[in-house]
Amino acid sequence: MATASTTKSAEVIDTFKRYVIPNYVRYPVCLVRGEGSYVWDAEGNRYLDFFPGWGCNLLGHCPEPVVKAVREQVATLIHVPNTWYTEPQGQWAKLLSERSFGGQAFFCNSGAEANEAAIKLARLHTPKERYKIITFEGSFHGRTLGATAATAQPKYHEGLGPLMAGFVYCPFGDLDAVAKRIDSETAAIMVEPVQGEGGINLPPDGFLAGLRKLADENELLLIFDEVQSGFGRTGKWFAYQNYDVTPDIMTLAKALCGGIAGGALLARADIAASLRPGMHAATFGGNPIAARAGIAAIEMIDDERLLANAVAVGAVFRRRLEALRDECHIVRDVRVLGVMIGIELAIEGAGIVQACIDRKLLINCTHGTVLRLLPAMNLSVEQANLGCDILSEVVKEHAQ
Ligand SMILES: *Cc1c(COP(=O)(O)O)cnc(C)c1O
Repeated sequence: MATASTTKSAEVIDTFKRYVIPNYVRYPVCLVRGEGSYVWDAEGNRYLDFFPGWGCNLLGHCPEPVVKAVREQVATLIHVPNTWYTEPQGQWAKLLSERSFGGQAFFCNSGAEANEAAIKLARLHTPKERYKIITFEGSFHGRTLGATAATAQPKYHEGLGPLMAGFVYCPFGDLDAVAKRIDSETAAIMVEPVQGEGGINLPPDGFLAGLRKLADENELLLIFDEVQSGFGRTGKWFAYQNYDVTPDIMTLAKALCGGIAGGALLARADIAASLRPGMHAATFGGNPIAARAGIAAIEMIDDERLLANAVAVGAVFRRRLEALRDECHIVRDVRVLGVMIGIELAIEGAGIVQACIDRKLLINCTHGTVLRLLPAMNLSVEQANLGCDILSEVVKEHAQ
């Protein structure tokens, strides 16, 4: 079924060398087609994808209900500005609100944009003297200048200074540090309930509840960046729902539209009112294509009971990877919540990623030593086991 493209990977790479800014590290492979948890390259090789779309393809490649909704919409109305009403945008907001904390939505196109909106909203909503936002070491909030300043990792700041003022960094999990850094100028605390890029770091017991308490006591806004952890990835609609804590503001993107670009901010209605007309906007935000894709993605998760599948498949990964950890001394720690999976190694992971690619399994490595898997939530148990077979073999070979 997979037909090789007429243009081979080498030719495509040659065009990139001349015309595309080399700001990404790319593998020398050109991908041409995807279906479910498989992708094909220009040479016709098939790969099992445990990192589909860098976390964006949570429903697998080209999920049928999303493809159908987008096809219909693109032939009907592609884009109108936010000076008009469209039915899909309202419906999309309603579905997201009903599945989270009953707030209102602002739509944009990416995670960084959603976080920029959250930063502006936090400053707009709180009294004028309050502008500081507490964020956490190992966090990742995006690549725009505000989101980069929010990201408490020096390597992402190099050469960019002076950064936007007002971010205060604390160690992830350290409530005492947060309590100490709150002052009369603090507006908000912004945190990923589960850190993604930072290495799939689960919050220590009581951490998120402790942040909620500190926010309430000090009249701060609690912002959850669920760009990576949200939308069903952890087996709940949003990661915070695993921890019995509710934010005031939440940001979403990545998987939000089944692989189509889209982002959103949700905020409690009384807070949302502070994002007044004229103070913030996104030209393409909430466009009919993204909205229809977003609605289709939600319906697919409901119809196919994919939250339950994420939990079931996550349990397979946990069992297989904990067995690997017990057998293999280079596996230091295994962290799993639904289909958000980190494997911390005692060695650099790049060689393992390459060896997996050679065996047609796609995975990621973050922070040098953490293998990161963000498989589709409709992955089958069989596919999970197949990939774990390959991964276990490769890791054991690298332990010698
Ligand atoms: C990927 C990511 C972002 C940035 O999203 P973009 O769509 O690339 O701007 C922000 N926050 C978290 C937690 C992410 O994982």
